[in-house]
Amino acid sequence: TETQPLADRSPDELAAFLTEQRAAYDALKGRGLKLDLTRGKPAPAQLDLSDALLALPASYTDANGVDTRNYGGLEGIKEIREMFAELLWVEPEQVVAGGNASLVMMRDVLTDLWLKGAVDGERPWSQEEKVTFICPVPGYDRHFTLLDWFGIDTVTVPMNDDGPDAEAVAALVASDPSIKGMWIVPTYANPSGSVCSQEVAARLASMPTAAPDFKIFWDNAYAFHHLTEDEAKSADILTLASAAGHPHRPIMFASTSKITYAGAGVAFLAASVENVQWYLKHLGAGAIGPDKVNQLRHAQFFGSPQGVRDHMVKHREIIWPKFEAVQSVLDSRLGGLGVAEWTKPTGGYFVSLDVLDGAATRVVQLAKEAGIALTPAGASFPGGNDPRDRNIRLAPTFPELDAVTEAMDAVATCVLLAAAEQLTA
Ligand code: PMP
Repeated sequence: TETQPLADRSPDELAAFLTEQRAAYDALKGRGLKLDLTRGKPAPAQLDLSDALLALPASYTDANGVDTRNYGGLEGIKEIREMFAELLWVEPEQVVAGGNASLVMMRDVLTDLWLKGAVDGERPWSQEEKVTFICPVPGYDRHFTLLDWFGIDTVTVPMNDDGPDAEAVAALVASDPSIKGMWIVPTYANPSGSVCSQEVAARLASMPTAAPDFKIFWDNAYAFHHLTEDEAKSADILTLASAAGHPHRPIMFASTSKITYAGAGVAFLAASVENVQWYLKHLGAGAIGPDKVNQLRHAQFFGSPQGVRDHMVKHREIIWPKFEAVQSVLDSRLGGLGVAEWTKPTGGYFVSLDVLDGAATRVVQLAKEAGIALTPAGASFPGGNDPRDRNIRLAPTFPELDAVTEAMDAVATCVLLAAAEQLTA
């Protein structure tokens, strides 16, 4: 039948299936499509939601009476720190509001650790013989690029439904002092959509580490980016770490890149007060203050923490149908055939698709030749190396709904052809 798993079919049936898939692929190619599912960018309609920003701020003094047009205030303005402290479950003095990109803050923190050392460290990381980071995979390619740029080694652990494999992490950090940190996208991870449970977070916060200055880079880029009414709560990593006697272990990052404008939002760092002072001291060597006018217009635009949550519902209404389209095409075209598995995220920006081992590169190539740009196979692994060559990250937010459906239908055709080729080879 149409839905019989490919692995159960006879050689003749598979040969016929291959012929069918070749014809379907040729027809697809003939359509001359030009579609793109590569980057997790907000769609123009999402950006439009924040256009009231363009007429703000309505006044230029902040809650402390500071003229935001002038220099100063390295830590960010009072009201935006307070607003995001509440949203991130931390105290305002634990928050720095910075420029438009949390990724830059992550690089800054790594640079400071590299050149100056941690508050709980013995020496700058550049003076270590070797520095290693744990990377849950699949993960965010720009995290890996950053490590590579520093010459930091990587070791991978599986990303499970409830977060990184905490036992694997604990085993690695217990004995190897070169392991100085780990990445984690705790909420609606890029690309798996997993949400780190309180139990996993507690284990990471409390596990003994051979390095005294082990750091968790807690990149909560999608903390508020729910796709359903079942809204995940981010684990309270700062409290967990502090209660476990490791208050300086986690450094949290977030931003409004996918809340307001991806290119003109506000980024945040949250950590222990000592870590915040440490970060500001080093930042102060090269900065006088952030764009406080942008921070103020964001504070006025949202009005309150609830204003941020309400705003996210409008994003959800725009992008949820696109995620539904991805699921419905994958279900109807690939369901039951045993040629792919995929995540069903309840938040974030991505769907993670696993095809047959060894087939991801082929699928991406087939898609490219048919005019559909997919994230390169392996992009979600350090060094671009997916040892099983099976993972493909799908990013459905940017294209219009019809284009998402069309692109996913094309992806399904490519997955089927690659599987047919492989199983008849
Ligand atoms: N972290 C993750 C996990 C992301 O997916 C992204 C955006 N793709 C970022 C960070 C970038 O954040 P920002 O725009 O604040 O630099």
